[in-house]
Amino acid sequence: MQRTSYRPIDCLHFIDGRFMPSLNGKTFANMNPATEETLGTVAEGGAEEVDLAVQAARRALNGPWKKLSANERIAIMRKIGDLILERKAELAALESLDTGKPLWLSESVDIPRAAYNFHFFSDYIRTITTEATQQDDVALNYAIRRPVGVIGLINPWNLPLLLMTWKLAPALAAGNTVVMKPAELTPMTATVLAEICRDAGVPDGVVNLVHGFGPNSAGAALSSHPDVNALSFTGETTTGKVIMAAAAHSLKRLSFELGGKNPNIIFADSNLDEVIETTLKSSFINQGEVCLCGSRIYVERAAYEPFLDKFVAKTKELVVGEPFAEKTKVGALISEEHYERVTGYIRLAVEEGGTILCGGKRPDGLDTGYYLEPTIITGLDRKCRVVNEEIFGPVVTVIPFDSEEEVLEQVNDTHYGLSATVWTNDLRRAHRVAGQIEAGIVWVNTWFLRDLRTPFGGMKQSGIGREGGLHSFEFYTELTNICIKL
Ligand code: NAD
Repeated sequence: MQRTSYRPIDCLHFIDGRFMPSLNGKTFANMNPATEETLGTVAEGGAEEVDLAVQAARRALNGPWKKLSANERIAIMRKIGDLILERKAELAALESLDTGKPLWLSESVDIPRAAYNFHFFSDYIRTITTEATQQDDVALNYAIRRPVGVIGLINPWNLPLLLMTWKLAPALAAGNTVVMKPAELTPMTATVLAEICRDAGVPDGVVNLVHGFGPNSAGAALSSHPDVNALSFTGETTTGKVIMAAAAHSLKRLSFELGGKNPNIIFADSNLDEVIETTLKSSFINQGEVCLCGSRIYVERAAYEPFLDKFVAKTKELVVGEPFAEKTKVGALISEEHYERVTGYIRLAVEEGGTILCGGKRPDGLDTGYYLEPTIITGLDRKCRVVNEEIFGPVVTVIPFDSEEEVLEQVNDTHYGLSATVWTNDLRRAHRVAGQIEAGIVWVNTWFLRDLRTPFGGMKQSGIGREGGLHSFEFYTELTNICIKL
């Protein structure tokens, strides 16, 4: 077991204000990816637990939650954010135990951002207005917003608390009730979050949590439940397709944040030191397990060799190690299955004719845990699977290009469209290129710089809809237009 003063927790469902085991007592083991040891047990929910949770959420919609004034609801939301910060050390430790990510990352990004999601949306809700339209002297129309109803929140394992709160905060701010289904691989911080919501004064039944798997389990039950009005899902594109089909029977409103194969375009006129510093993060932070990571790096030919020399040298300096060690920059991948998948892509890269410039193997001395050295691959082109498919690990390909037109064609030649990064000091080119990339988010000379008011999401098969600011509230509220004849 790793060094932390916080002990892992066993995870129960949280339904109608009470923690409870599964009705049939079923549990599954929660594994620590950095040690391959068992952290504890998790209640394994299915259709029955989901149904209980949905019923509780339905009852709570019209209970004390509805009667709270906006100020009272906002005060509870702010309190949730405050309690997350108060329990930051514990939540960060649990997040790192569950995911294998470095503790400094949980402490500096995941947990503070989770608190900020509540603080941000509790402020933002005050700015939400609706439209009024007068039609000559015939009629006056105005719209009112109301909650959508019971919302299912289904989340992945890579940023567990950050992504759950990114959905939960606006859903609650808008007056909905929810059933959360965290990833089976990372159940701990969602369990603490349920406790925090209770302690902050959220009425029973408003926030429910059911643990379990996806297919034939809690995830599938939630996405097909007839009394769930909307689903907000973040995860793989293939899972999104299954959920969409399951949700079709009851025509649920859907918000999807899905996979990506994000390009970084580096022009020769950019500041190479700045490029390298940020590209190390956009490639390998969180073990490359961030949907926004740039895994296809295109470098203008004049800068290709200098970029590679420095990038490879700096990548080799990244310390791969146990999440709680201070020097660690890259922790462990999430699971054995995922480790096999990512290393399978590295083997495939060699078969496809690629050259591994660094990494590609388990670091020396780390025999237990799913550790992988950050990996840079060259010599592949757009036809290769490694360049086309999402790997979701510390693996990037680097490809040279000669012209703007050529690189844009390659960049857009994918069914993904989540994010992209452009590096150039040419102002006009920055605007010109950024506007032509088929992605929901384009960063210029930076990466992962977020203003939570801005639209976040993907185009093509990287998602449906946008989150952030008003966009989140467009999803979590229904509009009714009231027309008055004058
Ligand atoms: P996943 O799709 O395997 O699982 C995500 C969640 O869906 C889990 O809670 C899982 O239990 C559940 N699930 C799986 N099958 C289901 C089914 N048939 N019905 C209902 N629920 C089901 O994804 P993952 O492996 O946990 O996460 C990695 C993926 O998430 C990557 O593709 C990554 O790009 C994507 N992601 C996207 C964003 C974004 O904002 N676009 C953010 C983070 C991660």
